[in-house]
Amino acid sequence: MSRKPVLPGQVMPSGQLATLGVMGGGQLGRMFVQAAQEMGYFTAVLDADPASPAGLVSHYHIETGYEDEQGLAQLMQRCEAITTEFENVPAPALMTLGAHRPVAPSANAVAVAQDRIAEKAHFVACAQAGGAGPAPYAAIETEALLQAVPDNLLPGILKTARLGYDGKGQARVRDRAELAAAWEQMGRVPCVLEKLLPLQAELSVIVARGADGQVVHFPPQRNLHRDGILAVTEVFEGNLPAELVQQAVAATTAIAHQLLYVGVLCVEYFVIDDGSTHGALVVNEMAPRPHNSGHYTLNACDVSQFELQVRAMAGLPLTQPRLHSPAVMLNLLGDLWFDDAGQPRTPDWAAVLALPGTHLHLYGKLSARAGRKMGHLNVTGATVVQVQATARRAAEILGIAPWH
Ligand code: ATP
Ligand code: MG
Repeated sequence: MSRKPVLPGQVMPSGQLATLGVMGGGQLGRMFVQAAQEMGYFTAVLDADPASPAGLVSHYHIETGYEDEQGLAQLMQRCEAITTEFENVPAPALMTLGAHRPVAPSANAVAVAQDRIAEKAHFVACAQAGGAGPAPYAAIETEALLQAVPDNLLPGILKTARLGYDGKGQARVRDRAELAAAWEQMGRVPCVLEKLLPLQAELSVIVARGADGQVVHFPPQRNLHRDGILAVTEVFEGNLPAELVQQAVAATTAIAHQLLYVGVLCVEYFVIDDGSTHGALVVNEMAPRPHNSGHYTLNACDVSQFELQVRAMAGLPLTQPRLHSPAVMLNLLGDLWFDDAGQPRTPDWAAVLALPGTHLHLYGKLSARAGRKMGHLNVTGATVVQVQATARRAAEILGIAPWH
């Protein structure tokens, strides 16, 4: 399927400039808005929070909930095309929008990503065609399914099927008693129990797929998580075994194709020890939008994940991104805004920015909390050694624990 692109700077019959809209006003929405504006689009954000990071920088900010009929009507009226930055936007709201405007990704694709049970079923189907499969798992929706969980899934991680992020809605369980207690604790909502795997490494792949089926991809990035939250992403040639890189890109492309996906999609993978030299790839989960692990693309690639989101939703051509510098991204969590005594502070940005190749991105959030994503720091440079040394020095200044 192809359609006429929404061209940047185009004056619409309404007399307004071509406007792109986004459901959700978080930092991903903010960086999307900034990319759209750089290209000459007007932007509209729908988010109830008057101080939302994206709302603060958008031409239009519709301050309603995701399911507010008037809010959705305003968004449709303002925008030529609509995307989402938050994967828990109710799929029915996207369905409503999609009946009147191009919405990328579609309500259907977002609905699959929103539900771990549907998501894993999709991964299993894709793996049958030769891709990477998910960790061994069982869906737990009833007492009977809880009782029927096979022993080999323990120890495991119980994850709510819906609404989890940054390790929230998850519990590690060692045995059946802990599993039953954790499910009780979660209010007996639909969950999946995943076997706890010995991870050698984690990586993710970001692709963009156009309405015409063309797929472009960023090089897989290597991710370090701490307490279930992304801490560090490193990307450079040779960072991951070539076999894994190839497999992960092919698997992600298949996942996008089989969903008839339009937009930017991130798929996260585990590397587990299978006795081979490079380990085996296991698919973890997908995000129907740009991803935290792709923030380095803002400074290290010739086209960022947010620009590709703009292009895909507007029906513009996609071009294969090129990594032009080795990159390390440090996530800046709210913890850094407090000293050892728990007193609020502003991190020493002057010292960090004195290091060559550091690019600071703060999201405009007024209050810092432990674990809250306040911004990220991208480090680029001429060589891997240099970039890693600078990133380590920046981490030391900021109080981020060393990683290897
Ligand atoms: P996100 O913020 O990425 O959406 P999430 O809350 O959806 O996070 P997951 O990606 O499922 O959580 O898990 C978070 C992290 O927990 C993973 O990146 C990994 O480090 C660890 N983890 C999750 N599942 C497993 C598993 N089956 N075995 C081992 N470690 C796991
Ligand atoms: Mg994850």
